[in-house]
Amino acid sequence: MSARVIIVVLGKQGAGKGTQCKRLAQFLAIPHVSTGDILRAAVRERTTVGLEVAAILEAGQLVSDDLVNRLVKERFEEADAQRGALLDGFPRTDGQARALDAILGDDGVKICINLDVPNELVTARLSSRRVCQECGAIYRDTDIEAISGTCANCGGDVIQRADDLPEAIMRRLEVYERDTAPLLAFYERRGLLVRVDGDQDPQDVTADILEVLNERGIG
Ligand code: AMP
Repeated sequence: MSARVIIVVLGKQGAGKGTQCKRLAQFLAIPHVSTGDILRAAVRERTTVGLEVAAILEAGQLVSDDLVNRLVKERFEEADAQRGALLDGFPRTDGQARALDAILGDDGVKICINLDVPNELVTARLSSRRVCQECGAIYRDTDIEAISGTCANCGGDVIQRADDLPEAIMRRLEVYERDTAPLLAFYERRGLLVRVDGDQDPQDVTADILEVLNERGIG
């Protein structure tokens, strides 16, 4: 379908990709597709994929390109993704970026937004992050939902992700530098990369992104 709006949102773990994609999904009426959420749901539901990847997620390592590529291809076949998608956490490697091009064919990625945030800030954000296991809502450790352990949206359990513990955070940032940071050049070469300052209030980051999309006639 030619009007498909595929927006790749890049940035280190904790840069605010999930928060921004949730907000943008409402403005743009296209789904937020997070491979991390898809994989965590599989782990929670103890599916075959979930059992295969649980230890990898906990350690903060990447699961194989073949597996994530397949999950994304399947997700793109669903009805709500025919208009487009906000991709959060995918692609994360050169192989995944090429697979994404192959999946999309001629009607490729429209824009790649990189949320620029310094390492110290993402480390602080990830250490204090708490998430609802059911709906993925994000809280801070000082929020009442984190202290009580109950999500205000859905009543689910609010927990600290195992990969948000200090050692896993360090490993994930190393993996990001090695495997994912090179994708910035990949999209820049194609004139698709736009950098947005992620070190602002979430609504200001969203406003900056919407302005860029507007300038480029996307959405
Ligand atoms: P995230 O929520 O995006 O930080 O993803 C959580 C974890 O899921 C990552 O640390 C990886 O173990 C796994 N994961 C998510 N997306 C990908 C991907 N595109 N490629 C490989 N592993 C992924």
